Amino acid sequence: MALLAPGSTIGILGGGQLGRMLGVAAAQLGYQIQIYAPDRESVAAQVAAHHVQAAWDDEPRLAAFAAACDAVTIEFENVPVDTVRFLSGHVAVRPGAQALEIAQDRLTEKRFVTDLGGRPAPFAAVPGRAALDAAIAAIGAPAILKTLRMGYDGKGQARLATDADADAAWDAIDRHAAILEGFVTFAHEFSVLLVRGIDGETRFWDSSVNVHAHGILATSMLPPPQIILDQQDEARGLMARIADDLDYVGVLTGEFFATDDGPIFNEMAPRVHNSGHWTIEGAVTSQFENHIRAVAGLPLGSTATTALPVTMRNLIGADIGDVPALLADDRAHVHHYGKTEVRSGRKLGHATWIGADPA
Ligand code: AMP
Repeated sequence: MALLAPGSTIGILGGGQLGRMLGVAAAQLGYQIQIYAPDRESVAAQVAAHHVQAAWDDEPRLAAFAAACDAVTIEFENVPVDTVRFLSGHVAVRPGAQALEIAQDRLTEKRFVTDLGGRPAPFAAVPGRAALDAAIAAIGAPAILKTLRMGYDGKGQARLATDADADAAWDAIDRHAAILEGFVTFAHEFSVLLVRGIDGETRFWDSSVNVHAHGILATSMLPPPQIILDQQDEARGLMARIADDLDYVGVLTGEFFATDDGPIFNEMAPRVHNSGHWTIEGAVTSQFENHIRAVAGLPLGSTATTALPVTMRNLIGADIGDVPALLADDRAHVHHYGKTEVRSGRKLGHATWIGADPA
């Protein structure tokens, strides 16, 4: 079954803002969504027909969810792979378990990407404290120690300026199995956002320059500096090989460092991505709509940028207090994710300017 008729139901694993924005896009195309997420609070469920609040390993609930859905996708990359494997026995899950499995483990991910001709930062496995000394000897300092699993938004990471920081870094990541990465001196960070359809057709959005603060994306802007335009094609080539190798369906994101030696792969996300939020108003077809189109087996929409310049600014923690001022800015597109608890470092909304600079 390739094409989902309007009125069909798309299931989404995970209940955050990415699911919420996917849900809005799905509604626009005539689909219903159901959310499966263990959390009681779900901002995606606020726009969904139904929310299954159950554990990732609750097989009876998963089976019932699969039966209620015509296709299933993910909005959260740490959904257990076993959950996706189980669901795949009942309903089409796009993208599939393999993409998730690779993206969930930094070592597996870097090896996979290296095999496809990509260039990550130098890295070494750090299964325990003793291995950290060997890794520092091999890679040198400065370096970044990252937990193998469950890291996002700079969490589970510690920087080492010199080898004297080894103990502190190991404690900072709670002594979890990790990877040590050489510190990359980069000019800029950028992402490659692609969508691949069921038939293998692949389209790319223009790459934004991404600025992070405290490990969290702060802004994405277009046009990017020239060095990114120069390196975009090589990075796209790698991401296309990854998508083809996985027979990937949906939006796939790759994060890169633009360096004097070309694009260095940082990590991939098998889902729509924060650095693509500008596409809601700034591209003919947004990342959310094209992801739904791909999952539903529909033809993909144009990824062309509608107007430059583009600025997407995240509203993180107390920034959400800026909403009244943003609403007074005639050129700002304001997104509030409906989260009621304001916590520092929490993504609560974003604002986008298309064809205009922020006021
Ligand atoms: P990550 O969670 O791996 O995307 O890391 C979050 C942010 O930390 C990145 O967007 C970079 O700004 C920075 N970072 C991560 N890895 C490195 C590295 N190997 N060299 C320099 N900066 C890094």
